[in-house]
Amino acid sequence: MSLAGKTAVITGSNSGIGLGVARELAKAGANVVLNSFTDTEEDHALAAEIAKATGVDAKYVQADMSKADDCRRLIAAAGGCDILVNNAGIQHVAPVQDFPTGKWDAIIAINLSSAFHTIAAAVTGMREKGYGRIVNIASAHGLTASPYKSAYVAAKHGIVGLTKTIGLETAQEPITCNAVCPGYVLTPLVEAQIPDTMKEYNMSREDVIKNVMLERQPSKEFATVEQLGGTVAFLASDAAAQITGTTISVDGGWTAL
Ligand code: NAD
Repeated sequence: MSLAGKTAVITGSNSGIGLGVARELAKAGANVVLNSFTDTEEDHALAAEIAKATGVDAKYVQADMSKADDCRRLIAAAGGCDILVNNAGIQHVAPVQDFPTGKWDAIIAINLSSAFHTIAAAVTGMREKGYGRIVNIASAHGLTASPYKSAYVAAKHGIVGLTKTIGLETAQEPITCNAVCPGYVLTPLVEAQIPDTMKEYNMSREDVIKNVMLERQPSKEFATVEQLGGTVAFLASDAAAQITGTTISVDGGWTAL
């Protein structure tokens, strides 16, 4: 499969799954546009490193996915967007009565509304080019729920609904829109949940990983960023041209339970 000549924009890609997806798409030949809300030397160095390793064009564009205008500016600054991967996301864990309103607003903005804005900004260009692939990184929490993750679960269910709607709106065009639903992947987002969970359950790190996080993941293994990247690359390929408006779980069997 070659994605040569295509440009992929991956939101929230200076870390974790987004960076893994960018690396796999670049390996498949796509030019890549990395993004986050920061603008550091390290951010730009990541793009340079990918370009050097794969020979594709790679650049980093600062844009804050909590802001509608920045989401749309990212697509304009990318200079083309054949493959759009909405990946930026944050998490906060608290019982609903204690859940800070600001955290609710930020999670809905970054994990859900940003995808609405980037898709709205990108879809016309995809129509003109006669090719478009939209991949929303949802979660097993787009299909099931867990306590204390009200905003995250709401946003992820929301993005699955958005995925179905865009799949229908573009069904008769050479554009697809799908959601990838990872189970647990050991990224900074998950690392950050370990200390609080250790406190909450009075458990060691190893026990939290085995008995809390991977408890619902029947494979008892984390999914990897490379596996997520490979799934996105498949969805961008010709073989996936008739896959649209649906979800693909990469969750070690979580949602089969
Ligand atoms: P991560 O923290 O490593 O990466 C999140 C990325 O989003 C980072 O690049 C961060 O800079 C970026 N980001 C955060 N706020 C932003 C903003 N305002 N504007 C632009 N970028 C912003 O986490 P991750 O685990 O790689 O998560 C990536 C996506 O995968 C998220 O949508 C997350 O919900 C989803 N996901 C992760 C897991 C998991 O187990 N790690 C499971 C299911 C779904």
